[in-house]
Amino acid sequence: MASSNPSYLIIGAGVFGVSTAYHLIQKYPNASVTLVDRDAYDAESRVAASWDWNKVVRADYDDMVYCRLALEAQDIFKSDPLWQPHFHQTGVYWVCRSDYAQNVITHHKDLGRNEDIIALPVAEARRLYGGIFDNADYTGVKEVLINRASGWAAAGDALRAVTKRCLELGVEYVTADVSTLVFDGRGSCIGLKTRSGDVLSATHVVVAAGAFTPTLLEWSAATSGNPGLRAEERILAAGITTGMAQLNEQQYKKFKDMPVGFQGYTPQEGKISE
Ligand SMILES: Cc1cc2nc3c(=O)[nH]c(=O)nc-3n(C[C@H](O)[C@H](O)[C@H](O)COP(=O)(O)OP(=O)(O)OC[C@H]3O[C@@H](n4cnc5c(N)ncnc54)[C@H](O)[C@@H]3O)c2cc1C
Repeated sequence: MASSNPSYLIIGAGVFGVSTAYHLIQKYPNASVTLVDRDAYDAESRVAASWDWNKVVRADYDDMVYCRLALEAQDIFKSDPLWQPHFHQTGVYWVCRSDYAQNVITHHKDLGRNEDIIALPVAEARRLYGGIFDNADYTGVKEVLINRASGWAAAGDALRAVTKRCLELGVEYVTADVSTLVFDGRGSCIGLKTRSGDVLSATHVVVAAGAFTPTLLEWSAATSGNPGLRAEERILAAGITTGMAQLNEQQYKKFKDMPVGFQGYTPQEGKISE
């Protein structure tokens, strides 16, 4: 039954959940919007993929849809006082082995946004940025893509700031572990059940649980008796290896203004041998 007073439950307060809450509360200021996450938004550390020291904010994709969306996001990062303090426009330095650079440049030209993007021959590129990429692996490299418009953001700080803004606008934040979605007799999702047994209801339920989403759907399929809820091959978990290094004062001076660097291996080249 359509309600005159819509309510939204958003499971997961990572970047997708919080962005959804932020847009919903601005569009429907009188609606009830609630974020539910197992971690408090200002916790010391969180399991969210969005919760990190930094994340690349780039628009250099060889997919036109991604390019357009990412440029839109970058524009907001550069102009909106909410996001702007967390964005660092260092540029990106992309060592390309395929036609990636030219595909990206074509998209940016088509979008009329190619003023900051350029592809350079290796010899010219490695002299840039004080030569910090001089010793990189350029085997089989066609050219280096430089996009001065891209950079990185302090992800955890940005997420905390936007969540705080959501709360100021009237979004509620519930810290709870969600165990299943709840359905009515006709199979419509009407809420969620927490691990401690509480049931929260809303006219709309948005699942933004990141990597936990397939598990939540699996558990919900089991409790609701609806196997169609299973993610199966629709959601594929992937892993990223990260490494961090502590810089001394001298190294900091050398690297502090560096762009984000990428090595563009093809999947075949990047394959781990058994
Ligand atoms: C190491 C790493 C590096 C990355 N680097 C980049 C990058 O440089 N640039 C870039 O654009 N992207 C990057 N990504 C991808 C990007 O971080 C993710 O796509 C994005 O953060 C996903 O956001 P999300 O909101 O979907 O999920 P998440 O941020 O994971 O948020 C999901 C939230 O749901 C909550 N949750 C899950 N299950 C439950 C439950 N049952 N009950 C209650 N709460 C629950 C979690 O606590 C979490 O807060 C990177 C990802 C990783 C892992």
